[in-house]
Amino acid sequence: MAVLIMDSLRRRVTLLWLFLYCLTLLVSIHWLWQYSYQQLQITNQQQLDRFSRHIDSQLGHFSFIPQLLSRQGIIINALMASDNSAQLDLTNRHLNTINTIVGASDTYLLDKDGTTIAASNWNKKSTFIGNNFAFRPYYQDAIQGSPGRYFALGSTSGKRGYYFSYPVNYAAETIGVVVIKMNLSLIEKDWAGKEQSFLVTDLNNVVFISSEIKWLYHSLSPLSEQQKNDLRETRRYLERKIDYVPISGNLNTNADLLKLDNKKLDNKKWLPTYYLSLIKAFDDEQWNVRVLAPITPILFDILLLFLLITLLYMLLYLTLILIKQKQTRHQEQVLAEIKSKQKLEFTVMQRTSALQAEVEERHKAEAALRSTQKELIQSAKLAVLGQLSASISHELNNPLSAIRTYAENAVLFLERDKLDQVSNNLSRITHLTERMAKISSQLKSFARKSNGELKIIALQPVILAAHELLKPQLKANRTELTMHLPTHSIHVKAEPIQLEQIVVNLLSNALQSMQYSDHKLIEIELIVESDIAKIKVLDQGTGIDEAHLPHLFEPFFTTKETGLGLGLSISQQIINNMQGTLTAKNRVSSGAEFCISLPVNNNNINTKQ
Ligand code: ADP
Repeated sequence: MAVLIMDSLRRRVTLLWLFLYCLTLLVSIHWLWQYSYQQLQITNQQQLDRFSRHIDSQLGHFSFIPQLLSRQGIIINALMASDNSAQLDLTNRHLNTINTIVGASDTYLLDKDGTTIAASNWNKKSTFIGNNFAFRPYYQDAIQGSPGRYFALGSTSGKRGYYFSYPVNYAAETIGVVVIKMNLSLIEKDWAGKEQSFLVTDLNNVVFISSEIKWLYHSLSPLSEQQKNDLRETRRYLERKIDYVPISGNLNTNADLLKLDNKKLDNKKWLPTYYLSLIKAFDDEQWNVRVLAPITPILFDILLLFLLITLLYMLLYLTLILIKQKQTRHQEQVLAEIKSKQKLEFTVMQRTSALQAEVEERHKAEAALRSTQKELIQSAKLAVLGQLSASISHELNNPLSAIRTYAENAVLFLERDKLDQVSNNLSRITHLTERMAKISSQLKSFARKSNGELKIIALQPVILAAHELLKPQLKANRTELTMHLPTHSIHVKAEPIQLEQIVVNLLSNALQSMQYSDHKLIEIELIVESDIAKIKVLDQGTGIDEAHLPHLFEPFFTTKETGLGLGLSISQQIINNMQGTLTAKNRVSSGAEFCISLPVNNNNINTKQ
């Protein structure tokens, strides 16, 4: 659903973008066209005005010459005496002088019938003398009494000329016509090679002055039969074939667009050329002066503008796409980060809860283990006490029977009034009861449940207490015990009751291993090596079977018939809890060596036990 919405949004944005692009193109191209077209019009209108003025001034030079000549006596005389060769010769030279001064092409005099009787070119091969120009409209106009103007190709020279004629009157009668011919190529020479084309067309739209030579004597519109006949009659273009320039558009409207169909002129050219056509009527509407300015530069400008706008829009579009992509990538990244964070948090939560459950489980297991351990320690103690019971009861029975004897004797001594003896017996009884109380208190303290709290204690008193507890049994088994204890106190962090129990356990095991030994000797050593206090219990018993060594500290491992196999495993756990170790090995001579190692702790010494 979201993808569909995004797609339609994207499509709408693209459409909007396209719309903006088209709008910008339309507005800016329209504006450029209007502006450039106007500029082109202004510039070319100026050119047209200049061109018109130029033609006007060029023609203006000659327009009054025939009138002036028609009044001169020499001209009238020549007409009056047309058979006087001297007069005509004089006239010829005069006309030549005038022609040279004004810079005309030819100046000549026609008689009443239109035949040339004198001419500036009298001495040239192509002289007009003798030629009849009655067919020319300029003659016809002048002979009717009005000044004539006419453009035509010279019938003798074949050159383009503009003819000015004027009637020569004498005694209210037109006796001849004086004509001056101007060379038109002078006009176009100055305007050739420009960007725009300058044309002068006659009323039939035939080009007779042009900056483009190829358009000369071409018609801008197809000629009708009537027009062709007229041209033939006046011989304006002599026998020249007037071709049609394939140009379309409103030829006689000022500032209009004309289309030149290049393909009709040249098969290789496909594209037409468009011109801005500016037109001005001239010479009493007989001519049209035109400027044709190609609009190709405007089209190029428009193409350039089109490319620029397209490029600009493409750049903008690309930039926007890039920004969008960057944003999308950033959003995706942020989303991915959030997702992975959530995933991580979820995993962490899962693990935490699993861990919590595990920790709870462990706590429970540890609590169960601790209570089991306590129970086991207690059972082990009771087991040791059981082992000790025979010797203890012996130890208690002896003083008891001694007390009874002393008490019975004391009664006898009292009867015999031997008070000293009585006192002596009572003090012995007191001494014996003290000894019994001591044994009982030791047993009580051994059987006491420990709270497992570690504290800094001196090791020597623990060893001495264990010895004291085992004394009856050592005595019963006729076993010697030697102790090598340093004179200065060695402190460790431990639980004294549990540690005493371990030492008792080790001593008890040593005793049992020497049951059948000849020389029964147990040694207890207390040493310090590299800040580790070591309590070593060495015996001369059976030693430990090599195969049993790896299993010695496993719970319930025993080689004894009535053994529980818990003493060493419990002892090792207790020592481990005190950050120490319990190890066993066979001695080199005979017997076994057990070693309790504990880190020495002489800081914050608290000897209270
Ligand atoms: P139990 O004494 O009930 O068997 P212990 O854990 O105290 O349990 O001892 C385990 C075993 O270690 C004994 O059965 C015995 O084989 C061996 N052992 C312990 N101390 C000695 C020793 N000093 N000499 C030889 N073997 C010993």
